[in-house]
Amino acid sequence: MTEQFPRRPSTGISVIIVGAGFAGLSAAIECDRKGHHVTLLEKASTIEEITRFGDIISFDPNGARLFERWPGVIEAMYKIARKTSWLDLYHWRGEFVTRQSFEGEKKWGPRINGHRGELYSIIYDHAVKRKLDIRLGQRVSDYFENADKAGVVVNGERMEADVVIAAEGVRSRGRKIVLGFDDKPKSSGYAVYRCWFSSDAIKDNNTIKHLVVEGDTHSGYIGPDLHFLVSSLKDGKEFNWVFTHVDDGNIEESWQFPGKIEDCLKYVEGWAPVVQEIVRSTPKDARLIDHKLVFRDPLPTFISPLARIVLIGDAAHPFLPTSIQGASQSIEDGVVLASCLELAGKGEVPLALRTHEKIRYERVHQAQATGVKTREKWHKANWDEINKTPEAIHLTREAWLLDFDAEKDCYKRYHELATSVRSERPRL
Ligand SMILES: Cc1cc2nc3c(=O)[nH]c(=O)nc-3n(C[C@H](O)[C@H](O)[C@H](O)COP(=O)(O)OP(=O)(O)OC[C@H]3O[C@@H](n4cnc5c(N)ncnc54)[C@H](O)[C@@H]3O)c2cc1C
Repeated sequence: MTEQFPRRPSTGISVIIVGAGFAGLSAAIECDRKGHHVTLLEKASTIEEITRFGDIISFDPNGARLFERWPGVIEAMYKIARKTSWLDLYHWRGEFVTRQSFEGEKKWGPRINGHRGELYSIIYDHAVKRKLDIRLGQRVSDYFENADKAGVVVNGERMEADVVIAAEGVRSRGRKIVLGFDDKPKSSGYAVYRCWFSSDAIKDNNTIKHLVVEGDTHSGYIGPDLHFLVSSLKDGKEFNWVFTHVDDGNIEESWQFPGKIEDCLKYVEGWAPVVQEIVRSTPKDARLIDHKLVFRDPLPTFISPLARIVLIGDAAHPFLPTSIQGASQSIEDGVVLASCLELAGKGEVPLALRTHEKIRYERVHQAQATGVKTREKWHKANWDEINKTPEAIHLTREAWLLDFDAEKDCYKRYHELATSVRSERPRL
């Protein structure tokens, strides 16, 4: 028997989505839930090309609560997610500083931390069960629009719809039509080494086995211009570490390279024995990535001149990992956009897009700023102050960001904001 999922009545709005990352896939599911007709185009020819990027990703309550509305998704995620609700923080030389508890946030919604590829696969499987029109191996090379339609050129062919959602990540081509020029991603001056492997490699190592033998753990070591995060999942059976460090790497050609353990060891020379041992014990065949962190200046708008094309996710606003918000914000984007289209109706697509932007613009940029704040707090830690008040080094966790339901907020504010958009643009 095929599964049935709740779906609002058809709006008759056709939507092309470019890119099936967390942003595009979520937008596709939400558009389907809200009764729009969706075609999702992804350049990767197999889903494994996307899921093989395997290391930790975190969805905070504002993002993860939205998974609860996709039947079966959050339940499947809980099975593979890390079972901790704390973060143990250490000085880079090894002294324990403080435990930050996330227990108090449970009232805001679920938190999901797990393997990026596995979590992605759960969402993808849900999209497949919904019978979404997902087309792999489709590379979009151009965008166009007129007053009534928007479209893309894909594998040399033109395709049209009422609206096009450009969700192709930080190297977006859709930005060109929105901006009117081709801007280039910039190096943020930081990079991350990312690694994931089976805990078998360390479960007998006396210096670090405590991180895996008693179930899941989550710890961070904070030092000058570098923070090192480590966690174990699936009852301690799988293990991962990531560290963010200063980097002046050239990102012209690529921003992901295979990393070398010898290089990582140089960064953590003199650090706590636990940290050095984690790096040293990384199996030679583990997938270690040196990921250059790319950013772009905030865009003046997410919407094309005729308001038929909209950028979402990293295409609109790349996030630093320290905000722990990029993926959650990209899901909020899809939820709000699908809701605006539903509330506006087929005859008012440009109004829907402009109202979406009004709802999202400020929130997303405020969320982006938290990433820099946390990085500065950790990388330039004031240890005199932290010795007196250890909580000063906790991750900033604010209710305005995390205790937030993007769908509810959109339904509540849409009409008022649409009216104000209309008064600013009477010709809409
Ligand atoms: C190291 C690191 C750690 C992070 N950790 C977290 C975290 O813990 N929590 C969190 O919330 N966020 C985190 N983020 C941010 C988060 O990963 C991103 O914000 C989020 O994944 C963006 O999703 P996206 O769908 O917009 O882009 P992407 O994931 O880049 O997806 C874009 C998709 O578009 C496809 N595509 C591109 N061009 C075309 C084309 N021309 N035609 C068709 N398809 C195309 C690509 O193949 C890809 O599948 C992290 C980021 C980094 C770099």
